Amino acid sequence: MKVEKGPRFKYIFVNEMGLLRAGLNKQCIGKSLQEVLTHERAVSLQKEYERILHNNKLSIFSDEIFLDDGTSIFGESVLSPVKDETGLTRYVVSVTRDITDTLVEKNRLIISEQRYRSIVDHNLDAIFSIDLMGHILEVNPAARRLTGYTEKQLKKCSIFELVSDSDLPVFKSLLDNSEDGYALESLDCRFLHKNNSHLTVHIKTVPIIIDAEIKGIYVITRDVSEQAKNAETIKFMAFHDQLTGVLNRRALLDDLDESIATTKRKKQAFALISIDLDRFKYLNDTLGHLFGDEILKKVADRLAELEKKGCRVYRPGGDEFVILLHHADRKKTARFAQKILTMFTESFYLQSGEYYITPSIGISMYPNDGKDAETLLKNADEALFRVKERGKAHFQFYRSDMNSSLGNVLTLETHLRKALERDELELYYQPQVNLASGEINSFEALIRWNSPELGFITPDEFIPLAEDTGLIVPIGNWVISTACKQIKAWTDKRNQQIRIAVNISPKQFLQPSLVNVIQTAIDEAGILPSSLEIEITEGAMEDTEETIPILNRLKELGIKISVDDFGTGYSSLNYLKQFPIDVLKIDQSFVRDILVNEKNAAITTTIIHLGRSLGMEVIAEGVENKEQADFLAKANCHKAQGYLFSKPLFYLTVEEQFI
Ligand code: C2E
Ligand code: MG
Ligand code: MG
Repeated sequence: MKVEKGPRFKYIFVNEMGLLRAGLNKQCIGKSLQEVLTHERAVSLQKEYERILHNNKLSIFSDEIFLDDGTSIFGESVLSPVKDETGLTRYVVSVTRDITDTLVEKNRLIISEQRYRSIVDHNLDAIFSIDLMGHILEVNPAARRLTGYTEKQLKKCSIFELVSDSDLPVFKSLLDNSEDGYALESLDCRFLHKNNSHLTVHIKTVPIIIDAEIKGIYVITRDVSEQAKNAETIKFMAFHDQLTGVLNRRALLDDLDESIATTKRKKQAFALISIDLDRFKYLNDTLGHLFGDEILKKVADRLAELEKKGCRVYRPGGDEFVILLHHADRKKTARFAQKILTMFTESFYLQSGEYYITPSIGISMYPNDGKDAETLLKNADEALFRVKERGKAHFQFYRSDMNSSLGNVLTLETHLRKALERDELELYYQPQVNLASGEINSFEALIRWNSPELGFITPDEFIPLAEDTGLIVPIGNWVISTACKQIKAWTDKRNQQIRIAVNISPKQFLQPSLVNVIQTAIDEAGILPSSLEIEITEGAMEDTEETIPILNRLKELGIKISVDDFGTGYSSLNYLKQFPIDVLKIDQSFVRDILVNEKNAAITTTIIHLGRSLGMEVIAEGVENKEQADFLAKANCHKAQGYLFSKPLFYLTVEEQFI
C-alpha cells in the first residue's frame, strides 16, 4: 500500500493469493481502501494502517474476512512499514495468513476444556488430581466440601495427609496399581475431615495418561459414611438380638461353623456353654413379660461382661444364652462355668425389687462332644437338661452316656405320664428324730419311681420334668392323699399322733386348687389337719404378694408349714416374720460340713437360734454321723433327719421299725 496524504492507503500490489483470499480483483490497484472495500471493512483496516504510521513499527492483527460466496475466513496480518531515508513511512506491506484452521482447532480445544471442567467442577464426587508423588495439583468444589479445606490449603498438601493413618497402606497400594495404568476402586480407606472426623469413602483412582505416559492420578472420592452407617446397622440387626443387644441365633450358627473350621485346622478345642435361667418361666408368668424382658436385658449385660475375657455371648432365644469359649480345655471351661455361677450369686435389682436368678449350665466340647454345630448344640442341651433335673444352678459337661442312659426327654416324659396310672410311684418315709428325747413321731414323705422300663429314677431327675410338663399337679395330688391315708393308718395303729411332711413344688404351690386338694385329702382320710405338714422351698415363696394369701389360706386349714432347704435360696429374713411358718429345715449343704467349715457351723447355729426365737421348730437335714448330731443337739436343734438315723423307707419297713 502506498501511503498518501490524508492519510490514504492505495493498493500498489496484491499477489494472486492475496486477491483470492481478500476477495479482490486486479482493478483495485491504484485505488484506496475506501474505494475498494465495503465501508465497514475500510474503516477498520484504515485504523490498523494508521496505527503503523503512528507507532512507526510492525503491527499484527487478525480479522474475519467475508467472501463473495458468503463464506468467511480468519486472517492474521502482519503490517510492516517501509520507510524512506528521512524515516517517514512511505509504504506498508501487509502479509496476511489464513488462520481459519488453527482458530477452529483452538476453539475446539476451548470447548473440550470447558466440557472437561464441567465434569470436574460440577461433579458431586470430590476429585483430586495429583502427581505421581501424591502432591495435590487440582481439586474441585466437592473436594473442598468433602475435606473442609480451601482449594489453596489443599493444593499445598499431599493426598496422603487426607487419608486415615491406619488405611495408608491400602491407599498406597491403590495408587501403586493406578500408576501401572489401572483404574481401581475401594471402600477400605477412610478420609480425614478438617475437623478430624473419619469419613468412610468410596475411592476411585484413575491414571492420568498423556501421550501414552502416566502423568498423575485422579483420586475420585464419595462420602459414603451415611450408607456405611446404615449398612452397619442392618448387619448389626441381622446378627444381634433386638431385646438384649447380644449376638443372636444366626450369629451363633455362623460363628460355630467358622469356629469349627478354624479350630479344626489348628487342632484346638473350644467349649459351647449353654445357659438356661432357672425358674425364668415362673418369673415371666407371675411378674409379666415386660418384667421378664427387663430381667433378660440385665442378665445379658452381666454375661456380656465376660466378653472381655475373649468369649462371645449369644441369645438364641427365650431365656437361653450360649457362650463360645475358644482355646479352652475342660479345666479352663470348668473354671469359666464356675465364674458364671459366681456372677449370679449377686442379685438383680428391678423395679425396686431384688431378685436372685440362677443359671443352669450345660457344656459340650469341640471336638470331643461333637464335630458339627448341630451335635454340639444338642449335646450341650442334653447336659443342661441333666443340670435342670438334678436341682439346677450348677454346671455339667456332656457325657456320651447321657443320651443312652435315659433315652431322650420325650420317652422319659411318656413313661412318667403312664407311671401314675400304672401305679409305679411310691412314697418312702424318712423319720425325723427328736434330738433331745430320741423320739420319732414325724416323717418326711419322699417320692420314689421305679419304672419297669427305665429302672429306678430319683426325684431330682423326674420332679423338674414333672414341673415343666405340668404332671406335677396329678403327681402332687397323689402324694398328698397317699400321705394323709398313711397318717390315718399310723396314728390309729400307734394310737399316737403321727405327723407327715410332704414336699410341694413351686408350681404346685401356685395351683389355685391346692387348698381344696389338701382339704379334701384331710377330710377323706379323717385326720387332724395339724398332722399334715407341707414343705415349701424359699424360691416358691419369693413373690410375697402372691404367697401371703396362699399361705394364710393353708394356715386356716390348720396344717403345718415348713420351709425346706432353708438358707440355700432367696433367704429374706423379712418373710420369716410375715409368713405363718411353723418349721425351718436347715439344708443339708450346711449340715454336711458343720464340723469342718466354721462358717457353715455359724450359719447353722444362727438358723437354730433364729427359728427358736421366732417360735418355730427347727429340723436339720442330711445328718450322716454322730458328731453332726451331737453338734446339732448342743446347738438346741429340735429334730434331725438323715442316714445316721434312717434312710427313707418303704411304708411296710417303717411300720416294722417305728410304728
Ligand atoms: P428334700 O425335700 O430336701 O429331701 C431331702 C433329700 O435328702 C431326699 O432326697 C433324701 O433322700 C435325702 N437325704 C435324706 N437323708 C440324707 C442324708 O443323710 N444324706 C444325704 N446325702 N441325703 C439325705 P430324695 O428323696 O432324692 O429327694 C430329693 C428332692 O426331691 C427332695 O429334696 C425334694 O425336693 C424332692 N422331692 C422328693 N419327693 C417329692 C415329692 O413327693 N414331691 C415334690 N414336689 N418333690 C419331692
Ligand atoms: Mg423336703
Ligand atoms: Mg431339703
